[in-house]
Amino acid sequence: MTPQPSTRPQDNPVTVIGLGPMGLALAEALLKNGHPTTVWNRTPEKARDLVARGARLAASAADAVAAGPLTVVCLKDYATLYEVLDPAGGAPAGRTLVNLNSGTPNEAHAAASWAAERGVAYLDGAVMVPPPLVGDPGSVFLYSGPREVFDAHRVTLASLGDPRHLGSGPGLAVLHNAALLGLMYATMNGFLHATALVGSAGVPAADFADLAVNRFLPTVVDATLVEQAPDLDAGHYPGDLGTLHMNLNALEHIALTCEEQGVHTAQPRLMREIAARAIEDGHGASNYLAVFEVFKKAAVPDAR
Ligand code: NAP
Repeated sequence: MTPQPSTRPQDNPVTVIGLGPMGLALAEALLKNGHPTTVWNRTPEKARDLVARGARLAASAADAVAAGPLTVVCLKDYATLYEVLDPAGGAPAGRTLVNLNSGTPNEAHAAASWAAERGVAYLDGAVMVPPPLVGDPGSVFLYSGPREVFDAHRVTLASLGDPRHLGSGPGLAVLHNAALLGLMYATMNGFLHATALVGSAGVPAADFADLAVNRFLPTVVDATLVEQAPDLDAGHYPGDLGTLHMNLNALEHIALTCEEQGVHTAQPRLMREIAARAIEDGHGASNYLAVFEVFKKAAVPDAR
């Protein structure tokens, strides 16, 4: 029987390349969990505290990658990954690279090919929490790439947070990252715009936040969306409790209220435009979720 690799952190050394705020947090979490940790950064002074706590500072990126079987890279972007690792010869064949910088699915595919040409196993990934939450067992880390590579390092990756494997396509992690961050920005902008609208009548943000975030959102948005998600997959938008025509009316009132109150109108106008487009496409008697059909197409409606 083949012996199973050890799951003890002390038997699983890790290299971290890139010590910006996120790379520092990753290296700290690995050290804290007992992994022998080698680090490298363009600006080596940033490693001072880590070295004081037991990390080894490699003299070059090539030395860092050669130090062990697994290297976690967290640089600014994919271009920087090549800039740092190409002169180092990529990485010695047989090693594994886990790349956690942000980017696009095409960039992730290109990086996976770049690694494959060098005989290096590659996982792409995305960190879904800010640096202070790295190392918390509930913090979500997304990975995509070969399942067997993920499984081989799952225990070590769990020292950073909750590792989720999304599939073998290398672009899936950054695709989910873009989708979730898009959701975050749209939600924050929705809240900030709504707060500006009531603020035009002197309502304090703190009062409105309680009503909007603690009362309104959990009952009206969150639960409804989870319940109705299967309808999105099925393209089934029954309008018996409210039609898109009715919702267009509501969006019209929001845009007009913004004009009356003298606050920014682009966001409600864009939402109105999207709903109008769905009606033009024949979904007027459907419920609001039919705007999903507009979002699935490449054309971007004007935000006039
Ligand atoms: P960052 O400013 O995006 O990246 C800093 C790192 O990149 C440092 O190690 C820096 O080295 C290195 N770097 C930049 N240009 C370089 C070059 N030309 N050659 C060599 N190294 C270079 O900071 P970060 O916050 O740590 O983010 C790293 C990645 O994690 C990014 O892709 C970011 O989108 C992602 N991320 C960050 C957060 C967050 O909250 N911070 C959250 C999720 C994901 P020096 O130290 O020498 O400048």
